[in-house]
Amino acid sequence: MKGGYAHNGFNPPRPVEQALRRGWSGRCPACCEGGLFRIWMLVHDECSHCSETLQHARISNVVPVVAVPLAFLPAAFFGAILDFVRGLPLLFVVVVSEVVAVAAAIYVLPRAKGLLVGLA
Ligand SMILES: [Zn+2]
Repeated sequence: MKGGYAHNGFNPPRPVEQALRRGWSGRCPACCEGGLFRIWMLVHDECSHCSETLQHARISNVVPVVAVPLAFLPAAFFGAILDFVRGLPLLFVVVVSEVVAVAAAIYVLPRAKGLLVGLA
């Protein structure tokens, strides 16, 4: 990477930060007009607006590696903060922490995949 651009065959080179932001928001990393996902985490074959190929990246195995730190570390931090509150039953702390962890994973997983599609 040189000057904030990924030299990965795109012509013109794609600004990395912009592509990551667009991928995180679920938009096409090239034009930001077309949607990235068909269903929750299924990526379109190509952008409906600019025909950018979106299926060229093999990222399915990497998504959890990115999503786990982004989702579960804040959830674990929330659980630790909740544990410091005196008088709360342990079962309540565990159940609330798990609900927050699952909600964070549901929120972060498609965004992490979009981030990686933007990076690829
Ligand atoms: Zn596009």
